[in-house]
Amino acid sequence: MLPGPYPQNLRADLAAQMPVETLLHSSMENTSNAPTPMKLQAVRGMNDVLPADSAKWEFFEETVTRVARQYGYRNMRAPIVEHTPLFVRSIGEVTDIVEKEMYSFEDKLNGEKLTLRPELTAGLVRAAIEANLTYNGPVRIYSLGEVFRHERPQKGRYRQFNQFDVECFGFDGPDVDAEIMIMTARIWRELGIDDVRLEINSLGNADERAAYRQKLIAHYEAHLDALDDEAKRRLHTNPMRILDSKVASVIEVNGTAPNLLDSLQDDSRAHFETLQQLLREANVLFEVNPRIVRGMDYYNRTAFEFVTERFGSPLTVCGGGRYDGLFEQLGGKSTPAIGFGMGIERVLMMLADRSNLAPLDAYLVHAGDAARVAAGKLAETLRDSGLAVAQHAGGGSFKSQMKRADASGARFALILGDNEVAAGTVAVKPMRNAAGEPIQGEQAIIMGSAVAAHLRRG
Ligand code: ATP
Ligand code: MG
Repeated sequence: MLPGPYPQNLRADLAAQMPVETLLHSSMENTSNAPTPMKLQAVRGMNDVLPADSAKWEFFEETVTRVARQYGYRNMRAPIVEHTPLFVRSIGEVTDIVEKEMYSFEDKLNGEKLTLRPELTAGLVRAAIEANLTYNGPVRIYSLGEVFRHERPQKGRYRQFNQFDVECFGFDGPDVDAEIMIMTARIWRELGIDDVRLEINSLGNADERAAYRQKLIAHYEAHLDALDDEAKRRLHTNPMRILDSKVASVIEVNGTAPNLLDSLQDDSRAHFETLQQLLREANVLFEVNPRIVRGMDYYNRTAFEFVTERFGSPLTVCGGGRYDGLFEQLGGKSTPAIGFGMGIERVLMMLADRSNLAPLDAYLVHAGDAARVAAGKLAETLRDSGLAVAQHAGGGSFKSQMKRADASGARFALILGDNEVAAGTVAVKPMRNAAGEPIQGEQAIIMGSAVAAHLRRG
């Protein structure tokens, strides 16, 4: 059962009872035929990506997609909305996400209990089970998309954010465990980020954790006074999550807590040792951090995080691990699996602003009906040859069109007037150099058929 009711559901309920006019217009008293529209704003904690910011997003998406493909990963996309029990079962009832962060609602049209996905793994695993994706053997998957968590918005913490997600279904590791970390290390390099560190841990298997759990509970019971309410609540439901606490007195007790690695038996120990050896062979630096834990029973063995200190206190930009028990937990066949979720907004905070990835090759200025027709044909021909060309729209003088050409960032302005149309030529004016800096180039008159080659020469 989910705790409720959620405040956002209440708001949605109120809104649903209001007549549509009240939602659309601020004033019912307005007697004119054109009611004043209500000022609408984005939902708190949900951000727009404006054109000026999108180059960073495209750079990120282009980089991770290319690298993931280099390692043989294939793209997969699951819906944003899933049945609520999927997340309760996969993420776990006694977690921050399920306890207080999920956007859950009832579909008014059919009463279904639905949730906006708070992470990508659950939907991908559900889809993999439904499609019997591992029928012919293991698969490597990557996915990109929006996720939703009702958190208090602050820098690096939003209510809608994006994740880059990688999942390996049907591999029991530790080779593939090392592979996804090696791949992520390459992604950092290609993004130009050098201040994230990798922390790894092993959670062992269910039996080893059960033994550890008893030791841990005994340790906390001997230090009950130091535990805050949340830790006390978790003591018997999810004691390993207490190791993650940010409360000072609990951190102190954690300093002397037993170490899960000491409870590992031979197989789990060997898995973890080999993982470390593979990372060393690949020159991927890491630290063992026994404080990295996961709440749910189906998590096992490898757990890892990439952390940065760039913003003062440590910030996790990417977290992942092995979850060999999840497929069965969700009604599928036993399938070993490992994956991670990377918070894209947090990674973008670490990237310098970028200018447009692929600036326009040309901006086409034209005046007169004949020139408009010729411009349309020329633009399409240039695009056929792979060039990026914006054709001026909306009329205006040559002068104002040239201002637009300048503002567009295009490398060339192409100018078509009556004279050029009559002669079958185009006036070509260089506007920017290869670095995108404005230049004062000489205008040249070129035959229409030679424009593409001229633009390519730069
Ligand atoms: P945190 O401890 O910061 O709350 P988390 O343990 O909830 O993180 P995960 O569930 O592992 O995070 O999600 C994977 C990644 O998604 C995180 O490492 C982080 O980069 C990012 N992330 C998590 N919550 C948010 C959020 N509210 N806004 C932006 N990014 C987030
Ligand atoms: Mg969180």
